[in-house]
Amino acid sequence: MTRDALYDVLFEPVKIGPVTARNRFYQVPHCNGMGFNWPQTHAKMRETKAEGGWAVICTEECMIHPTSDYTPEPQARLWDDYDIRCLGLMVEGVHRHGALAGVQLAHNGVGAQNLYTRMPPIGPSHQASVENQPTHTRGMSKTDIREFRRWHRDAALRAKKADADIIYVYAGHDSTLLMHFLSARRNQRSDEYGGSLENRVRLFREVLEETRDAVGDRCAIAIRMAVDELLGPDGITSDGEGREIIEMLAEMPDLWDVNVSSWENDSQTSRFSDEGFQEQYVGFVKSVTTKPVVGVGRFTSPDAMVSQINRGVLDMIGAARPSIADPFLPQKIEQGREDEIRECIGCNTCVSGQLTFTPMRCTQNPTIGEEWRRKWHPEKIAAKGSDDSILIVGAGPAGLEAARALGQRGYPVTLAEAQTEAGGRVTRESQLPGLAAWARVRDWRLGRIQPMANVEFYLDNRLTAADILAMDYRHVILATGARWRDSGVGVTNWQAIPGADQDHMITAEDIFAGSEINGPVVVFDDDNYYMGALLAEQLKLAGHEVTLVTPATQVSSWTEHTLEQHRIQAHVLELGIEVVTSKNITRIGSDSVETACVYTDKAGTLPAATVVLVTSRQPNDELLLELNADADRLADAGIKSVNAIGDCLCPSTIAAAVHDGHRVAREMDAPPANPDMPFRREIISLEDFES
Ligand code: ADP
Ligand code: SF4
Repeated sequence: MTRDALYDVLFEPVKIGPVTARNRFYQVPHCNGMGFNWPQTHAKMRETKAEGGWAVICTEECMIHPTSDYTPEPQARLWDDYDIRCLGLMVEGVHRHGALAGVQLAHNGVGAQNLYTRMPPIGPSHQASVENQPTHTRGMSKTDIREFRRWHRDAALRAKKADADIIYVYAGHDSTLLMHFLSARRNQRSDEYGGSLENRVRLFREVLEETRDAVGDRCAIAIRMAVDELLGPDGITSDGEGREIIEMLAEMPDLWDVNVSSWENDSQTSRFSDEGFQEQYVGFVKSVTTKPVVGVGRFTSPDAMVSQINRGVLDMIGAARPSIADPFLPQKIEQGREDEIRECIGCNTCVSGQLTFTPMRCTQNPTIGEEWRRKWHPEKIAAKGSDDSILIVGAGPAGLEAARALGQRGYPVTLAEAQTEAGGRVTRESQLPGLAAWARVRDWRLGRIQPMANVEFYLDNRLTAADILAMDYRHVILATGARWRDSGVGVTNWQAIPGADQDHMITAEDIFAGSEINGPVVVFDDDNYYMGALLAEQLKLAGHEVTLVTPATQVSSWTEHTLEQHRIQAHVLELGIEVVTSKNITRIGSDSVETACVYTDKAGTLPAATVVLVTSRQPNDELLLELNADADRLADAGIKSVNAIGDCLCPSTIAAAVHDGHRVAREMDAPPANPDMPFRREIISLEDFES
């Protein structure tokens, strides 16, 4: 295939100080839940992106000193020379594929809790911890400031020793000491490091000069800076101090990597922002510097990328999430295969890895984080191990991914779906307000399956166990999904809620099927992820009076891990949905529900002509149980294996279903050597132990 000449501009090299990037694709620093805790997992994940064509691959925040300890969140580290080895692993992997390695040196200042090191957190001024901890940050003395400058310089030298090409001076996300000094609300000093903007920028400037002095002969020096905090006059703004700071330091770095702060604002989900949403804030930067500018905006469309370059908004297309969803995005554009890009859906499941202190996972890319552990490659997969035919029942995320990956391996595959449309839950859920991009989970897989001659796909085919036994397949994979419980059983209620068997009690499936709804509506959310609030929103937009009741203390409380909770709660309140938190529903009456405070049991009543229960899901495992009930019958039908995957095995996230579909495809005729431990573990070598 040949590339459209329109995209040639994306493959021009870019000079960044003493180094040159081979094209304009730049993987900006991003958290991954691996960091120093899982260094080989981390290194292989980054290396795979270099292989996929990204010209620059950066680390996440790389801690420069034990006074910046983010435990339990996994991050990169360069506390001392011992850490060089870990970072070196990643740099070596990135270099193997001709990319540049960037290291985002960071000191978390006010944001570091130092839970492991037990050293006092430091910041520009004495203040409370920003991390909701019963601790405070100590205001730095002049000696502390000198020490900090030395730590940063030493860490830069270590990064150079690890053979890094680009070294960051980082003032972003309201999570770093340098940004805390810039910020008038955090920096209350009265000496030459506080007060006027010139004074607040002083430390940033000093560190920048010293980093260049230490490593600038061979390494490029990048600044990462949040130009707007989206706080209006209370914070840094792109038409105020954000712009002034960039004007003051315009030609000092070799590259500007600009974004908005905090992380919640920078990594907004597709529910709340569109591709390229940061342009309105960072668009001015190129007009005040001649240095290359990198920015992000969940870019997955090559046309949008070209537009950023041609309109002079950015010089390099920065990406975190798009590079996670498709590590081979640049190569696909380069080879004229842009239709094959596995586009990020903007769900922030990847972020939830970091925030639950575990290696990240991705809804679109089941191989992320598995490159080292299971040797899964995002593009390559072993050829089939036999000519066995495979029937997959259910074309939701799990079934579609299994069919796609088994098809790629070359197996003869038949995929049967009961509905007239593919996609299962993503097709339904993508119709909810703000979730349209989630349909990409379905569409990318359908697009890959379509040209495969060895994959047959039948819609409108609900299969029974008798149908399956009468067919002629060697392996059966059941991907029949799950359904919302209609009893109210969930996290809080382990028994059915009395009254849940009445006609005016409905579930998400009833709403998707177009059930008639009368107001007032009570939505009971005991699931705590996105569904409860989204159904409430949909019903409110349809004109109903809606009350959202949850036993949790916040709306959609788990979405703290996807950086959305604050926005969701604000949105729900702004829509005029009544929010009742910390309340269980104990009984459903004919036109009301009885509630109880989860702390005091204090009873209450709410009017309800319709009650929507969003409590928990149960697997559609009837086929599984029926088929597995009689081994002889299976043998007579020539069926060698029956596997359940995704929600029909265990209801979970879409990412989990996709991962399970991918796993079952990889393991066909190639089961793990040790099924009890189906992946490699990262174990510290014995020589690292000291008595
Ligand atoms: P997952 O997330 O695990 O992929 P989904 O619920 O999204 O689960 O998808 C399951 C799919 O299986 C749905 O599209 C559903 O219509 C389909 N399905 C369920 N039972 C059958 C059946 N007996 N025959 C064919 N398709 C089925
Ligand atoms: Fe994009 Fe979601 Fe994957 Fe993150 S998890 S990279 S937001 S698709």
